[in-house]
Amino acid sequence: MNRTSGAILVLSGPSGAGKSSLINKIFNDIGSTYFSISTTTRSKREGEIDGVHYHFVSQEEFKREIDEEMFLEYALVHGNYYGTSLGPVKKALKEGKLVIFDIDVQGHDAVQNRLADITTSVFITTPTLEELKKRLLSRSTDSAEIIAKRLDMATREVQRISEYDYLIVNDDLDAAADVLITIAKAARMKIPTQQINEFVQMWAL
Ligand code: 5GP
Repeated sequence: MNRTSGAILVLSGPSGAGKSSLINKIFNDIGSTYFSISTTTRSKREGEIDGVHYHFVSQEEFKREIDEEMFLEYALVHGNYYGTSLGPVKKALKEGKLVIFDIDVQGHDAVQNRLADITTSVFITTPTLEELKKRLLSRSTDSAEIIAKRLDMATREVQRISEYDYLIVNDDLDAAADVLITIAKAARMKIPTQQINEFVQMWAL
């Protein structure tokens, strides 16, 4: 049965677990895809480009977008706002694309509440908290205080892994990428409830 619209793949997991590297690695192997660029009030890290990694905005601008109901979901993470704009997601879904979100556990919750029937979710993490700390320190983009906050957040997020469809322990990038490609291809095959109902209806005597 062919899908008539797109599907959603939610990726969550601690900063430093390798989500961005994984997405970049699999991007060309999973067909027509739209990677949702979030809006955030956090400051730009070195090497990040506005409109590519995030849309970087002020608190005032973010609050205006909340008031105008422009977000599919938004959350306060590590003291900064992060949100997913609804417009481009709707368009990509209409075009039949697989829409990928890199969002936290709160965002995942919100997406499941609104679009569970077309959503597949994956939690990606390092094998241990110690390994995560090593990676965040070697990335050297965050202060000691921010790293401590991220580690604290990671211990809390890991408690919610059971809310996800899949867990990828990213200790080998190639192996993790292979698993994620398989999941992304399957995510595309998820049929929305409405389409299933229409199919069932056709079988009515
Ligand atoms: P970072 O500051 O490391 O880029 O991201 C921090 C956290 O915010 C990550 O867990 C990331 O998944 C999450 N995040 C990024 N964009 C969004 C978003 O649009 N919504 C939500 N809920 N979380 C987001």
